[in-house]
Amino acid sequence: MVLFDRPLERASSDCFSAYGGAVDQRSEGAIHAARAGAVAALVRSMTMRLDDFPHTGSMRYSPDVERIPAAAISTRAADELAARLARGESVRLALQLGCRWHPDATSHNVIGELRGSELPDEIVVVGGHLDAWDVGQGAHDDGAGCVHALEAVRLIRARGLRPRRTIRVVFFMNEENGTRGAAGYFDAHRGELERHVLALESDAGGFTPRGFSTDAGPEALAALEEIAALLEPASAASVRPGWGGVDIAPLARAGVPLVGFRPDDERYFDVHHSDRDVLEAVHPRELALGAGAIAGLLYVVADLPDALPRNPGDAR
Ligand SMILES: [Zn+2]
Repeated sequence: MVLFDRPLERASSDCFSAYGGAVDQRSEGAIHAARAGAVAALVRSMTMRLDDFPHTGSMRYSPDVERIPAAAISTRAADELAARLARGESVRLALQLGCRWHPDATSHNVIGELRGSELPDEIVVVGGHLDAWDVGQGAHDDGAGCVHALEAVRLIRARGLRPRRTIRVVFFMNEENGTRGAAGYFDAHRGELERHVLALESDAGGFTPRGFSTDAGPEALAALEEIAALLEPASAASVRPGWGGVDIAPLARAGVPLVGFRPDDERYFDVHHSDRDVLEAVHPRELALGAGAIAGLLYVVADLPDALPRNPGDAR
């Protein structure tokens, strides 16, 4: 058995970078371990927290290598194993896993709209993903994102507002295990993608807002910065170039500018994909601030006299 025990880099500028720098052990560990002749791969959980909760997540195999079992172990278990091995102890470990592939089954994205008053065929998408891993409840990942999207539109309606363009709430299915919902949305709405003016995803937890990241070009970025400046009261005035979201990513091919909601990420990987990701871990006021920030951005973008400039997209 091979133990992958490289911790998240604590000196990283943000926790998502630290996660991104370590997650190859989980996603590809079984491939490298099998190549080295191992019968199983064990992976230190993708969190900086030291505790007894294993964190699951996607992994893959390679067609040219034997498919060996792989399992995440808690950070404390990894430390303990590594310490014993470092002392030269002979460690015996039995692995019993109950996971297996079931046949594919039909599922659905869930979609609702606030129809635009003047330009209802022009669409601003806002969403999160409806599926979650089997451990925990998926409260932050991504119940919070779904609630952000739904609550943002409720807030706009509660103020008696109706923007020029349509705001479409999409709860994407199957983000964690194949992103079929994202692909399904792209296919089903191919004919109207040139009328999608923006897509925003919340999939980084229900924590205190920090702002947004976007792949928008310079002109749209400048416009988004101006809009976000209005969101200072919700601590969401910052917009920086970066990632939109897994579920909205396919829309970039059609030139739709993508925006990711960016909350404080210091505690996200404490709970991510583990039994810690439960409703009690979501702070109601932090969640509400996020929904307020998203509502502000959505409303202004959906009500602009001229739509935001699009990205080039690609021909595929
Ligand atoms: Zn997620």
